[in-house]
Amino acid sequence: MTPLRYAAILFIFLINVLLTTALAQSILGFTPASAAHETAVEGKFKSIPTPDEERRQHHIFTQEPHVAGSKRNNELAEYIRDEWKKQGLEDVIIRRYDVYGTNPKSTFLEMTAPTHYTAVLREAPLDADPDSKNPAISGAWLGMSISGEVTAPVVYAHSGNPEDYDLLRKNGISVKGKIVLVRYSNPYSYRGFKALTAQREGAAAILIYSDPAEDGYKKGKVDPDGPWGPEYKIQRGAITYDFMVPGDPQTPGWASVPGAKRIPIEQALSAPKIMALPLSWHDAKPLLENMKDDGPISPQNWQGGLPFQYHFGGERVKVHLKIEMDNGVQPYYVVEGRIRGAELPDEWVVLGNHRDAWVFGGVDPSSGTASMMELTRTLGQLAKAGMRPRRTMVVCSWDGEEVGLTGSTEWGEQFADELRAKAVAYVNVDEATSGPNFHGQAVASLAPMLEETTRTLQNPDPPNKTLYAAWKETIAREKEAGTQSGPFDSGVANTTLADTRIGSGSDHTVFLNFIGVPVIGLGFEGDYGVYHSGYDDFYWMNHFGDPGYKYHTLMSQLWGVTALRLANADLLPFDFASYAANVRQFVQELANKNKLVILSGGEAGAKDPTKDCTACGASGTASKPLNLTDVQIAIDAFEVAGKKLNESLKAKLAAGPIDPKLALTLNHGMMQVERNWLNPDGIPGRPWFKHILYGARFTYAHLELPGLTEAVEARDWPTARQQAEILEHALGKNTKLLNELNSTLNP
Ligand SMILES: [Zn+2]
Repeated sequence: MTPLRYAAILFIFLINVLLTTALAQSILGFTPASAAHETAVEGKFKSIPTPDEERRQHHIFTQEPHVAGSKRNNELAEYIRDEWKKQGLEDVIIRRYDVYGTNPKSTFLEMTAPTHYTAVLREAPLDADPDSKNPAISGAWLGMSISGEVTAPVVYAHSGNPEDYDLLRKNGISVKGKIVLVRYSNPYSYRGFKALTAQREGAAAILIYSDPAEDGYKKGKVDPDGPWGPEYKIQRGAITYDFMVPGDPQTPGWASVPGAKRIPIEQALSAPKIMALPLSWHDAKPLLENMKDDGPISPQNWQGGLPFQYHFGGERVKVHLKIEMDNGVQPYYVVEGRIRGAELPDEWVVLGNHRDAWVFGGVDPSSGTASMMELTRTLGQLAKAGMRPRRTMVVCSWDGEEVGLTGSTEWGEQFADELRAKAVAYVNVDEATSGPNFHGQAVASLAPMLEETTRTLQNPDPPNKTLYAAWKETIAREKEAGTQSGPFDSGVANTTLADTRIGSGSDHTVFLNFIGVPVIGLGFEGDYGVYHSGYDDFYWMNHFGDPGYKYHTLMSQLWGVTALRLANADLLPFDFASYAANVRQFVQELANKNKLVILSGGEAGAKDPTKDCTACGASGTASKPLNLTDVQIAIDAFEVAGKKLNESLKAKLAAGPIDPKLALTLNHGMMQVERNWLNPDGIPGRPWFKHILYGARFTYAHLELPGLTEAVEARDWPTARQQAEILEHALGKNTKLLNELNSTLNP
C-alpha cells in the first residue's frame, strides 16, 4: 500500500468516525451535549426490559378473565398500584369513576323454524390450551345491548352497512321488526355502527357473527394449530355509540366522579336501543344454511367462507332470542402514577394502556399491559439511579376502554384544563403485540420524531436490522398488497412511515379530539383471528403472537425511548412543516374526491371560483359553491412558517445550551399549536369531538377534516363554507403563533 493510499484510507476512516459520532448524537429537539447525555440514558433504558419479565407480567394479567367492572379487573388495578409503588413511581393513586357499565345476566338463542336448533353461545375448550377450560370464561354477549325477548324471521344483511340495507330494499326485503344477521367485516367496521344502522332500519335485534372468510379457516390454520379463529370463536365487544360521544353515556363532556350529575339513560346519545348478540360461525351456520330456499341468492361479495350459498332470507328462518342484561352505574378504576420531572415537573408526557379485557386479553390489552409494567419498572430504576426525566411522566392504566373508551375519557374530562396547560403528548399502547409487523401512528407534527426514534432500536427478527428498516419493509409489503391505508399510500409526507391518519377506537381519543394533545400510538401486528374471544390468551401469545416475548420487550424499549425523548428534549421535537404537508394532502384529497375548486398560485387572487367555476363546469356537475383557495393559501403560509421555525430551532440547538426562559416560551408556544386545532363548538352534530383536522367515522375509520368533509359529503354548502372558514382561521392562528416563536428566536 502506498503511503498516499494509506493516508486516504485513514482519512476516510476518520470522516466515518466523525460522521457516526455526529449522527449518533443528533436527536431532534436536543443540543449536541443533551443528545450525548440522552443517548447514554436511552442505552441504559434499553438494557433493562427482558423477555422473561414481559412473559411473567403477561402471565399475571392473562391468568383470569378481567372484563371492566369485574372483581378481577379491580384486583389488577390494586396489583398495578402496588407494583408501581415498589418500582419507584410517585403519587400512585387509584381514581374511581361511577359510570354506566354493562354486564350480561343471560343470553339465549334458538332457531324455531324451519327446524329446531339451540345455539351453543360458548367457546369449546381446546385440549392444548388449559386456559380455554376456565369456567369463568363468559358466554356470548355484547356490551350495552339492551334486554329483551323476541321471536322473528332472520334476514342476512352482509356487513350491516347502510348500502347493504339499500340492496335488501331493492330486492323487496324489509328488516322492520325482523332480526338481522350480519358479519364482522373486512375492512373493519365497528360493531356499534352495525348496531346503530340496524336500529335505524327498525330491526328488532342484531346478531353479529364471525365468518371463516374473515378471520377463520379460510385464512389459514386455526387455534390451537395456528393463529386464526376456530369454529366456536366468539368476538365479544361493545356496541356503544361512542363515535357520537365516548365515555360514560350519562355524563357526556364531564367526568363521572362520584356524585356527578347524570342525564337519564333514555336521553344518552351513545346508549344503544337494540338487542345485540355475537355468534361463532358454528352457531350462525344453521341459520344461514336453512335460508337456502329463502329469498334470492345474495350477491357474490355477500358470500362467505361456509360451504353453501348465502341467501337474503327474511321468511323461512325464525329465531327466538332472549337477552337479559345488568346495565347500570358501577365503579371503574383508573390507576395513575408518575415519575416527577427533575426540571420541568409541570410539563407532562402522558403514557397509557387499558387494563380491561373481554376475556383474558392475551393480545388485547394484556400484551400492552405487560409492556407497560416493564416500561414502568425501567423508568423506576432509572430514577433511582439518578436518571430522572426533565419533564414529568404520567402513566395510566385505563379501565373500560372496551366499553366506550370510558376510563380514559372520564379521566381526560376531569383533568382537561390541567392537561391543556401541561401535556406535551400522549403515547398510547393498546395491543402491543399480535405479531412482528410494526405500525406507528402519530399526529403529523410528531411523525418525524417517531421515525427517528425507530432508527435507534434493533428489530429482533430478522436481526441486524433497525426497527426503522423493518417498519419500512412492512409498509412497502402492505402497500404492494394494497392493505395499507396510511400516508404512504396517498403520498402524504413520503419521507415518513408513520400513519398520520388517526381515527378513534382507543384511549388516545379524549387526548386528541377533546383536549388537543398530540398523540402517538404504537403496536406490532400479525395474523390474529382470536380478537375479543376466549382464545385470545397466554397460550395463543406463546404459540403465535410473540413466542419469545421479544416484541413485548421491543415495545417497552420503543415506548420508553419515545417518552424519554419527549420528556428530555431541550426544545420539543415538533415538525410543523410536516403538519402543513399533511393538511395540504387532506384538503387536496377532499377536493379531488368531491371535485371542489382549488386554484393555485397567481390565479388564486384573481378569480372568485364561486362565480366563475370552470373546473365545476368541466366536471359536468352543477356549480359547487365552495372553493378551498383561501384554505390552500393559509396552508402555504403555515408551511412557510413551519419550515422557518424548523431552521431556527435547528440552528439554536446546534449552538448549544438554551436559556431556560427562552425554552419555556418556545415549548409552551409549540404545545399550543395542537390546542389551536380545536373548535370549542366541535364538529357539526358531534360537539364532543373538537379537533378540526382529525376525527373518526361512525365505523371508527379515520376521517380527516371531519367537519368539512362531512358537510361536503352531505352537500351542505353553507356548513361546508363555515367549516372551511374555521379551518382557515385555525391555520392563520397557528401561522401567527409560529411566526411569533420564530421572531423570539431571531430578534
Ligand atoms: Zn384494546
